[in-house]
Amino acid sequence: MIEATDVSALSREQALVELERLATLLSEANRAYHTEDAPVMSDAEFDALRRRNAEIEARFPDLIREDSPSAQVGAEPAEGFAKVTHAVRMYSLGNAFEEADLREFDRSVRSYLGLPTDAPLAYTAEPKIDGLSLSLRYEGGRLVQAATRGDGTTGENVTANARTVDDIPQEITGAPDVLEVRGEVYMSHADFAALNARQAEKGGKVFANPRNAAAGSLRQLDAEITRTRPLRYFAYAWGETSEPLAETQMGSIERLAHLGFQTNPLTRVCETPEEMLAHYRAVEAQRASLGYDIDGVVYKVDDLGYQRRLGFRSTTPRWAIAHKFPAEMAWTWLEAIDIQVGRTGALSPVARLTPVTVGGVVVSNATLHNEDYIAGRDSSGAPIREGRDIRIGDRVQVYRAGDVIPKVSDVDLSARPADAEPYQFPTHCPVCGSEAIREEGDSVRRCSGGMICAAQVVEKLKHLVSRSAFDIEGLGSKQVEQFHDDGWIKEPADIFTLEKRYGEALTARDGWGEKSAANLFRAIDERRRIPLDRFLFGLGIRHLGEVAGKTLARHFQSWAALRDTVDSAGAEPAADAEDARARRAVLADSPAWSELISVDGIGDALVQALVTAMRQPAEREVIDRLAAQLDIEDVAAPSTEGSPVAGKTVVFTGTLERMTRAEAKARAEALGAKVSGSVSSKTDLLVAGPGAGSKAKKAAELGIETLDEDGWLELIGQA
Ligand code: AMP
Repeated sequence: MIEATDVSALSREQALVELERLATLLSEANRAYHTEDAPVMSDAEFDALRRRNAEIEARFPDLIREDSPSAQVGAEPAEGFAKVTHAVRMYSLGNAFEEADLREFDRSVRSYLGLPTDAPLAYTAEPKIDGLSLSLRYEGGRLVQAATRGDGTTGENVTANARTVDDIPQEITGAPDVLEVRGEVYMSHADFAALNARQAEKGGKVFANPRNAAAGSLRQLDAEITRTRPLRYFAYAWGETSEPLAETQMGSIERLAHLGFQTNPLTRVCETPEEMLAHYRAVEAQRASLGYDIDGVVYKVDDLGYQRRLGFRSTTPRWAIAHKFPAEMAWTWLEAIDIQVGRTGALSPVARLTPVTVGGVVVSNATLHNEDYIAGRDSSGAPIREGRDIRIGDRVQVYRAGDVIPKVSDVDLSARPADAEPYQFPTHCPVCGSEAIREEGDSVRRCSGGMICAAQVVEKLKHLVSRSAFDIEGLGSKQVEQFHDDGWIKEPADIFTLEKRYGEALTARDGWGEKSAANLFRAIDERRRIPLDRFLFGLGIRHLGEVAGKTLARHFQSWAALRDTVDSAGAEPAADAEDARARRAVLADSPAWSELISVDGIGDALVQALVTAMRQPAEREVIDRLAAQLDIEDVAAPSTEGSPVAGKTVVFTGTLERMTRAEAKARAEALGAKVSGSVSSKTDLLVAGPGAGSKAKKAAELGIETLDEDGWLELIGQA
């Protein structure tokens, strides 16, 4: 995991630098986790960094930063949701990692309350659910608002979304007039697996773990999407209440259960630290079989009078602590490294392990990320694991942190077999034998075989039929895989000739009949006519996502126009990475290439990928054969009668003061102009706001007409 200088050995200067580094790292991690639901590190790594930060702060209290990670809860609400100011702040929890931390917690509570060591003091102990917290406000027994934690003070209003969750009652009877119930939204393992399978099937987002799936599902701008997601809710706390629920924590939980909320069945009252520890161990032993993720046990002082006296620190209550489970890891042997090939040809190394139980789950495969990771360095060449490489035959550490895919995290050099050789990452695709090329700046090596590579073909076919692309009803990943295995569909065009070739045979296939076969062929026929953007996205070319597909379609308006431009931008495919670099330098000067690059929103990497795909003979033939089966719809040019800028190529530069860049672009396009990102001899007009630099200079050199924003608005008659 994290290897860094021991905190006690840090000088003041080093501490200052380290605190800054940690603040940045943690805030990025926080944003990725809370706002984007896409974690960049495991929870255990996050905790370790936070702990290190706290240790340094404890040693150098005067260096504590204003934006100290210790003073933060979660992250600010994401844009797109209305904000809710919590009537009572939503807190985070202090962490205990060892038995000693728990005893220290008990000692500090007693000392704060002035209770002798032998005085009775009860705590509740319950699982810490790994989901996201949600505050539900009931007024007069009706659910009136649901809000996420956000940064603790302000959260996101997700009321419409919360109303779709079965575990959340819309109405409750016998409750205080105002009652804010707090608890955790989560997804069970089974529901998570099924959701991911569905998502994969239709080419949607696949979630890293149940927590992300829960957060991503709850925080949908369209609550109807939330409705289709299997979310659950455990209530374990409360915010504002017009009258107390009970006198104890346990009593309040029982009351919430009575009101119709799900509460966790593993909640206990413990009279001593020994009982708390015993419960911690009991919960840990059941962790793998609970069916949902938990990451520790939370202890809370049971007596609410004591809770009130203890109160809060800046972000955490003094009366509660989360006792985290150790990261789930184990040591085992690396038996082999397999290489999997994805849709864009990426070679991903997978560790085949001697099966080992990690946190109650048997693990026999784990990711090794990429070739640098195996070699013991990160993508910038800096050492990871202090530079230790991983070899077949090594004793390795496997790590699971709530993530679906376990990873190999470390290696035990003392157990390395004498004959273990450094791992040679394949330079050729293990499936089709084509050269696997690693481009500069890419951490991934890719098979260059394109459509001659069976692995890529299957993945590309799955992508082609996915929902955002051709979306052929009745033809999902499973069917495509079967048809491919049987040689019925070897490339996209085969989908459209399937009826001719196997119309009869299909009705006799297992699982198919007259009706389902007829339905499938009808669904396929319906997609012969396809919008240009969907066609482009469906090709599964690297970097050519849905947005890029739309952008290219809008700019070129027809498949023929785009194809011809790409053709004149192309050169024979490069033989290797060195050659590719040299050719790119030459290509970058061609007018067709600059036209492609100049399309706003289309980057160098995409153009490169597009040209490569179209110039690779095998791949090109496949694309042409598919196109021949289709009627690819042109994009109608907007009606631009009387428009002074129809057909003109316009470039915007500098700051626009009366509209956003996106707005300017949309209006220009609506008037039939082409908006480009860079100035060339093809540019007709430059609109330059304050701060315009090199583009204005170039336009002046080329003698291109230049207007300011007002001049532009006047020209298009919208001043
Ligand atoms: P953290 O954000 O990791 O400091 O942990 C605090 C969070 O743990 C809370 O905001 C809740 O979302 C979550 N949590 C999960 N289970 C519980 C529980 N049983 N009691 C209190 N908080 C819980």
